[in-house]
Amino acid sequence: PYAAIGVEINVDHVSAVATGLAGERLLTWRRAFSGGDSVNQGIASVGAIIRRVVSRMAKEERQVLGLAVAVPGLVDVQGTARIAPNLGWRDADIGGDLAKALRDPGFPIQVDNDANLAALAEQRFGAHAGASDLVYLTGEIGVGAGIILDGRLRRGRLGYSGEIGHVQLDPDGPPCHCGRRGCLEVMAGVGAVLRKDLSPAEVQMEIEEAVRLARAGDPGTLATLDAVGRSLGRGVSILANLLNPEVVVLGGYYVPLAPWLLPAVHDELSDRVIAAEGGGCQVVASTLGHDAAALGGAARVLDSIDSGRLPG
Ligand code: BGC
Ligand code: ZN
Repeated sequence: PYAAIGVEINVDHVSAVATGLAGERLLTWRRAFSGGDSVNQGIASVGAIIRRVVSRMAKEERQVLGLAVAVPGLVDVQGTARIAPNLGWRDADIGGDLAKALRDPGFPIQVDNDANLAALAEQRFGAHAGASDLVYLTGEIGVGAGIILDGRLRRGRLGYSGEIGHVQLDPDGPPCHCGRRGCLEVMAGVGAVLRKDLSPAEVQMEIEEAVRLARAGDPGTLATLDAVGRSLGRGVSILANLLNPEVVVLGGYYVPLAPWLLPAVHDELSDRVIAAEGGGCQVVASTLGHDAAALGGAARVLDSIDSGRLPG
């Protein structure tokens, strides 16, 4: 049997998913991660995680067909990670470095933007699988969009489309790791929910705490989530005015927070989108779990092989 591996490098965690040929999950893995002090250190720890997944597959006598890695930043069409603002990585040849870290693994390694790969996962496995106009929005420290129009992932000329997280909402807003101010991701990303700098391991815990407080009706938490939902709604409105998608899928930490974010998002959509009823745009929480980009990586591997020609 065979396996495809997808790995998602995030600002606070790394996830890995292995699937079989039909996309069935064989393994899911998640670990806190901080990007390291340098790209090299970061790649070394991602490499160690991948080695463990690969050896698990070997134990199960599965041949690994390929690996696709999702990166929280701009990845050019050649697969070089140009800017990962929240990791502080620039011009990183992640595929090449990982191949070295894995000592020539014997399978191809692809690299893509996290939101792009998550959008592929939604298109293939999500509640709106098969949708021809779908946008995936990452709900992480960083916010990015994966855009599927007319059934195809749209990357733009160099591969940098979908950077909605760095659209400026407020020129006097808080500073963003991209060097600008008031970007959507500092107003509507997970950092805006937590309102403090946290270590990677703390982010998930603090989100769980925010959900607990929101359920208990804590006024401060509800007000924060309403404000974050409004900023998010402005972002979704931009997407709806610009692209007229059938569905915008909210992923990552937006999933557990969705019950408190969605009312404000819907208000903003009806105020800001010129077409009636938001142009028919539905906004939903992902059903794929927190590792949609990793799953999308596996899907990318499966898409790039011709399974009819595999021996056995
Ligand atoms: C990056 C995007 C990325 C998003 C989510 C943003 O800061 O610029 O490329 O998709 O974070 O990780
Ligand atoms: Zn920014």
